[in-house]
This record gives sequence, structure tokens and C-alpha cells, in this order.
Amino acid sequence: MKKNLSLLFAAAFVFLSLSACGAPREYASDFFAMDTYMSSKTYGTDASGAVKEEAERLESLFSVTDENSEIGVLNVKGSVKASTETVELIEKALEISEKTDGALDITVYPAVKAWGFTTGDYAVPSPERIEELRALTDYEKVDIDGDTVSVPEGFMIDLGAVAKGYLGDRVRVILKDSGITSAIADLGGNIVTVGDKPDGSPWRVAIRDPNGDGSVGVIEVTDKCVVTSGGYERYFTDENGVKRWHIIDPATAQPADGGLLSATVIGEGCVLCDGLSTAIFVMGAEKAKALWQSEGGFEMILVTKAGEVLVTDGIKDSFFLDGGSGYELKVIG
Ligand code: ADP
Ligand code: MG
Repeated sequence: MKKNLSLLFAAAFVFLSLSACGAPREYASDFFAMDTYMSSKTYGTDASGAVKEEAERLESLFSVTDENSEIGVLNVKGSVKASTETVELIEKALEISEKTDGALDITVYPAVKAWGFTTGDYAVPSPERIEELRALTDYEKVDIDGDTVSVPEGFMIDLGAVAKGYLGDRVRVILKDSGITSAIADLGGNIVTVGDKPDGSPWRVAIRDPNGDGSVGVIEVTDKCVVTSGGYERYFTDENGVKRWHIIDPATAQPADGGLLSATVIGEGCVLCDGLSTAIFVMGAEKAKALWQSEGGFEMILVTKAGEVLVTDGIKDSFFLDGGSGYELKVIG
């Protein structure tokens, strides 16, 4: 009888620990940071405080609207002694600028500001002003000397196209360091995943339909970043009825028109994905395809104005088009 009881206890213990393993507790949180809504879900361990704190810490370094941030000081004074993190992120952005032939350009800020995307006071600048803005946009003029970053008179930097990506990379490190093996965070359109879902299946990330409230499809990923840039979130309609969005073509100092409605980049490093998604939105499908073929290291989902969803070969089996979306799926080989 005693033996039977201890067997029963042993069985109960195995059952309890298995069920604890099978369904770890979910900790969800949402918050506002870096001018956007963010959320996180971690399993087994609560890390929501750490994610929010990191977002706020980085905001205090990179914010363009805070004159006391490192970028704020640089934009007011033309020069700043910056933290290693800021210097390294600027260097990384400049590397992506090289790769994308200047489609990503952190010196585009005077144009972003003139079009009103910082304040919401939207305006189409005059042709003369556009010429001035073009002359104030050139990533090659950013000078880094040790920890001092400088720009020529009138130039300003905006890390908005890569900052949430950097947060994504940091969040992954923070979560993994706390022993978390399953998590997902939405950092304002930058989706970061750690491992798989708690049940062992891949994370399923919906890609928003730029023309509506639904999605164009779903991508399954494990331990990756999924970053989307699009013209559908921050825009205004000008007096000719043309949508003018917050992603600027550095070559024209005007809202980019590369024929895309959104560009999603999937890969390991979130800074690269974030920088590339912005650049690819500017470049359009043809140049993006050439970049994918020559550089590799990332996959993409492009939603075109022509109603197509273009997915690269490496994810053709993990992307599932939403049947009712009305888009035509094509694979980039
Ligand atoms: P979001 O921040 O909306 O997720 P992005 O990552 O594409 O989108 O970044 C867009 C932001 O980056 C803009 O709000 C602007 O501040 C800045 N930006 C706009 N165009 C460019 C560009 N061509 N290169 C670098 N930064 C840009
Ligand atoms: Mg970006």
C-alpha cells in the first residue's frame, strides 16, 4: 500500500511537471514608447518591465524631438560626443546606406521635418525648398572621429528608420539572457521572435494589407525579426489627392514612390531588417530583387501597387497568402 502511494505521488509529480512544461505561463504587456504602440509576450518568465525600460532608455539616446538626447544635441550643435551604442548604430546605418545606394539615408531628417512628419503640421515644400533639402541630404557627409559624430551646417540626423530595429536586437539579448526561450514582441511594426511558440510550432506573423484592415498573408518564423515599412501608417493627402507618406526618397527629398505599398524584411538581425525595409520601400521591387540576389542574408515580402505580393524564394514555403485578400502571389527567384 505504501509503495502504491509513493508510486501515485511520483506519477502525480511527473504529470504536474509535464503540464507545467507543456503550458508555461504567458506574461503579456503593452506600452507606448518611441512614438508608437509596443507589446510583448514572454513565456515562463515575466520580462515586460525590462522591455519597456530598454525602449525608454534608447528613446532617451536617439529621440529627434528631445533636444537632450544624443541625436537631439547633434542636430542642434552639429556635433556630439556620443555613447558607443549610438556611434555603432550610426555606423551600421551608414553601411546599409552604402549597400542600398543611399536609399537609406539618416541625414534625410531636414526633409522629414519640412514635410511635417515630426510635428504633424503637414506641408508640401516649395520646389526651391526641395532643392535646399536635397542639398542637406547626404550620408557621406556624416563624420565619425572616435566617439564624436559631426555633420555639416544645416544637416540633421534621424535614426527613426533603424532605432526600433536596434531595440529589437537588444530585446532579444535581454530576453535570452533572462533564460526565456519563447517570446514575441511587436515594437511598432518591428516583430521580434525568440525561439518558437511555447508549443514548439513556429511563430505566425500576419502581414498587414496596406489597402485595408486585414492581412495579405502570414509568415511562419523561428527566432527571427519581421520588419515592415509602409506608406499606410503615417501620411497625409495633398491638395491633388496624392498620399504623401513619411518614407522619403533621399534622392528627391520627397515621399518615396518605388511602386510598393509595403516592404517586409525577414532576417536574423533586426537593425539590418529595419534599415533594409525602409530602403527597399524607397528602391522598389526591381532594385530590391537585385540587392537580395547580390547580398543575401535576408528574405522579403513586397506588396506592390499593382496588387501583387512578391516573396523571395527562401520563404516561399513559409508564407501563406490570405485567399480572400485579392492579391496575386509571385515568387522572386
Ligand atoms: P516606421 O518607423 O514607421 O516603422 P521606418 O522604419 O521605415 O518606418 O522608418 C521611417 C522613419 O525613418 C521616418 O519616420 C523618418 O523619420 C525616417 N526616414 C524616412 N525616410 C528615410 C530614408 N530614406 N532613410 C532613412 N530614414 C528615413
Ligand atoms: Mg526601417
